[in-house]
Amino acid sequence: MSTLRFQALKQTFNRQPVEVEEPQRRSEIFGKHVFNKAAMRQYLTKEAYKSVLDAIVNGSKIDRGIADHISTGMKEWAISNGATHYTHWFQPLTGATAEKHDAFFEQEMDGEVLEKFGGGQLVQQEPDASSFPNGGIRNTFEARGYTAWDPTSPAFIMGTTLCIPTVFVAYTGEALDYKTPLLRSLQAVDQAATAVCKYFDKNVTKVMATLGWEQEYFLIDKALADSRPDIQLAGRTLLGHASAKGQQLDDHYFGSIPSRVMNFMRDMETECMLLGIPVKTRHNEVAPNQFELAPIFEEANLAVDHNSLLMDVMRKVASRHNFRVLFHEKPFAGVNGSGKHNNWSLATNTGTNLLSPGSTPMKNLQFLTFFVNTIKAVYDNEELIRATIASASNDHRLGANEAPPAIISVFIGSQLTAVLDELEKVTDGKLSPQEKTDLKLNVVGKIPEVILDNTDRNRTSPFAFTGNKFELRAVGSTANCANPMTVLNAIVAKQLNEFKEEVDALIKGKKLKKDEAIFNVLREYIKESKKIRFEGDGYGEAWEKEAKKRGLSNNKTTPTALKAKVSEKSLKLFEELNIMSRVESEARYEIEVEEYAMRIQIEGRLLGDIARNHVIPTAIKYQNTLIKNVRGLKDIYGKDFKKVAKEQMTIIEEISEHIEKINKGITDMIEARKKANNSDDAVKCADIYCDEVKPFFDEIRYHCDKLELLVDDEIWPLTKYRELLFTR
Ligand code: ADP
Ligand code: MG
Repeated sequence: MSTLRFQALKQTFNRQPVEVEEPQRRSEIFGKHVFNKAAMRQYLTKEAYKSVLDAIVNGSKIDRGIADHISTGMKEWAISNGATHYTHWFQPLTGATAEKHDAFFEQEMDGEVLEKFGGGQLVQQEPDASSFPNGGIRNTFEARGYTAWDPTSPAFIMGTTLCIPTVFVAYTGEALDYKTPLLRSLQAVDQAATAVCKYFDKNVTKVMATLGWEQEYFLIDKALADSRPDIQLAGRTLLGHASAKGQQLDDHYFGSIPSRVMNFMRDMETECMLLGIPVKTRHNEVAPNQFELAPIFEEANLAVDHNSLLMDVMRKVASRHNFRVLFHEKPFAGVNGSGKHNNWSLATNTGTNLLSPGSTPMKNLQFLTFFVNTIKAVYDNEELIRATIASASNDHRLGANEAPPAIISVFIGSQLTAVLDELEKVTDGKLSPQEKTDLKLNVVGKIPEVILDNTDRNRTSPFAFTGNKFELRAVGSTANCANPMTVLNAIVAKQLNEFKEEVDALIKGKKLKKDEAIFNVLREYIKESKKIRFEGDGYGEAWEKEAKKRGLSNNKTTPTALKAKVSEKSLKLFEELNIMSRVESEARYEIEVEEYAMRIQIEGRLLGDIARNHVIPTAIKYQNTLIKNVRGLKDIYGKDFKKVAKEQMTIIEEISEHIEKINKGITDMIEARKKANNSDDAVKCADIYCDEVKPFFDEIRYHCDKLELLVDDEIWPLTKYRELLFTR
């Protein structure tokens, strides 16, 4: 009997829901562990408080003397809330979050002990940069790196540690993290969008990007997850035959949430409330044991931090409830994968959502301006968007005939399509008073009503307009949202800068009125970017053909997709907007290429190990049982034994055939891996892993899964799909 599997199952069957304590009103605990405005007002001097707010709103620098005041207040607040340690909390390019804890507690020269935390420790720290990926930056520059306080994301307490959100940069200034370029992109889009807003409203002085992510995940019993080496090390199953029942009955989606899971969710949401993460909705997803969680949207930098923090919190709380949370994009073949929709918009300091239509024609023209510019930006940079969501794990979703395809397109709905069609007909140059009135009343003026009944949301589109925001749906569930957000902000910033130049040129050169100039430029953009708009079925084969005709990219694998990150166009884009230097862009590319190769390498080794050391020996064991049986039949029936042993003998042969294919597949895969590892170039290495190593996965898996169907269930060592997906 396969002990690990059956022991795990037994443990799982005996589990009881873990009781949780919940406050009656969430508002009472919201942000209790955050050094937010209320806490700052209480613990900081007026001057210190003002200086933090000024840094948040205007990006102004905080004086060192004031930093000492702030750190003192922050420390007092943290200690009174149970903290004993502090850490700079940052997001290195590993994709995880990093922290190094130091105690507040210090001993002075004279032996006296006290709790210390100075302005210097708040503002800057020096973790050892050499243990984080740097994509060659380390070779060219000094190894040292430092973390620096980001006052736009408030400090918080996790357990007994005060966490201070920081950026992580090399000693020479290059970004070694996700946050730095994100902050720079937010600044770029703020500047560009504010300038454009001035056409419509002089009171606008700041524009911020907003993000509302939707996190999908699987929840699997801890014992079951730990019984599978592939889930443990790769976060997904590398083999396993499909369960007879999967998601075909659609009975999980929006179904009632099992009680163990419900307690996990309540516990996690309480933690989120304390940390000021405004989680709002929870529900079952399409696949069995798959769930989703979404917050109220926030300023993008904060939302990105909150998503990273949430993933940490989820892992911890899941463990408390004897679950393992799987963020992998495709933990199980044949059932739905997980994504992380990124809902994105732009909001002004005056409280206007720039992607939400307003009550006057002028407000709607403002909406159209941002709407059309975003579409144009996506059209001009579709390959870069695809690159920014590329990863070994997301390759299982994109282009794999389920969830968004690897082709980037924009869905806007039939009514807005009709509006853009009308705008395409706007006269070149000056508009007649009649045309202007007509546009204002019948085209632009009708937009709010149009959007209200725009209910035909197309779930197959990777980038969809959903009423008051764009939704980038192709982001993977493991991703750090900073990556796609940086790109989206960057391309829209560049686009808005160009728009402003063109409109100004028409006003000055052709003496057009402001609104005439805007209509003229928008008309051209609508025409130019038409190819990116697609309203049909994004999963269908017909779309692949059509997209090819339109000249849209369809980069199905990560190594191919990533190349767009270092195209001259992308390098220039980031450089011109001061978001990333060439060195920074190239370093990121190298890190991601290397990570891809490493992931496939790990999966290859794992699959080889499981197939050779778990599957084949089990198959042989069962084959021996059959052989013994056939021998016994021969003893009883003599030369007529074949009549009664026929099926057994067929299975014996089938087992041998599968074993042969598996073993050969592994041997060949190892050869391919050697070839990849021997290549001295990281890009070439990743290409070989993708094109020559990975194809063996399916082949080896196929035969292992066939054996799973043949071999006695009692001795099968790997916890089966039905057990993983339906035990709770
Ligand atoms: P879905 O149908 O995809 O589940 P929802 O209507 O539930 O979409 O909203 C999804 C997400 O969109 C939520 O996280 C919400 O906070 C976010 N969202 C709503 N408005 C905005 C906005 N202006 N900017 C960014 N995100 C937003
Ligand atoms: Mg969504």
